[in-house]
Amino acid sequence: MARILAFFVVSFLGSFLDPFAPAQAHAESRHRFHVVIDPGHGGADFGTVAVNGGVRYSEKEMTLLLAQQTAAQLRARGISADLTRTEDKDLALGPRTEMANRLKADIFISIHMNSTQTPMITDAEGVETYILNNTTEASSKSLARLENSVLGPDERQGDTDVALILRDLRLDANLSESKRLACLVQQQVVAVGQRSSPHAISTRNRGIRQALFHVLLGAEMPSILVEAGFLNNAHDRDLILDPRSRRMLASAIARAVENFRDTKNTDIAAETLSRCKVR
Ligand SMILES: [Zn+2]
Repeated sequence: MARILAFFVVSFLGSFLDPFAPAQAHAESRHRFHVVIDPGHGGADFGTVAVNGGVRYSEKEMTLLLAQQTAAQLRARGISADLTRTEDKDLALGPRTEMANRLKADIFISIHMNSTQTPMITDAEGVETYILNNTTEASSKSLARLENSVLGPDERQGDTDVALILRDLRLDANLSESKRLACLVQQQVVAVGQRSSPHAISTRNRGIRQALFHVLLGAEMPSILVEAGFLNNAHDRDLILDPRSRRMLASAIARAVENFRDTKNTDIAAETLSRCKVR
């Protein structure tokens, strides 16, 4: 009995006096920030489509262009980046965040383009960044239901109170960080549009919004969805089609990600959050 007790005492102390602890801490500090970028739609799913001067533009192509450039800009900053798809192919929503979870990504960014209900109205422009909505009673219920449906078998088995509380805490922490990421990205991306647009920043900045986007639901890390402009607006479309402004947009997202990583748990992070208004 004494021997068993001693074993537990040693094991307990050992967890504090772990000879490998410094090595682990060092490995932790060398952890490379990892981003998964998700180009919206693909394959048979074109997303929104706009026709101008006999040319057909589809959201799935624009999102891939911007996502590829964003990954390149992140890598140029020493941040590792993967795309959920690198070509025009069908990809369901679930596997997009599953990939980010599997790779233990630090953040997940889904890239989309907006369009107006009436495609002929082409004067709507600007950028919106979305975070997952879990604020209202009705949506949090449906969120919970959907969240449960995307749980892995291990998590479903552990559906005890403690497991549920831990998951809620994780979701809350991720939502707060998602909001901070959304604000940093929105601020940077809107600034690019402003420099190359004759319009005032107020029309470019359509704000941070919340919605129950299914593609964000399974993410186990801070996640946002960027509507990087209106596909049926020539100015917004050209921002992505023109290689130079596309690089500026991508570099704006990468700069925001770098800032997000570098200010985590600092006073600056708290200040970003306090100034961040969600519509
Ligand atoms: Zn879309």
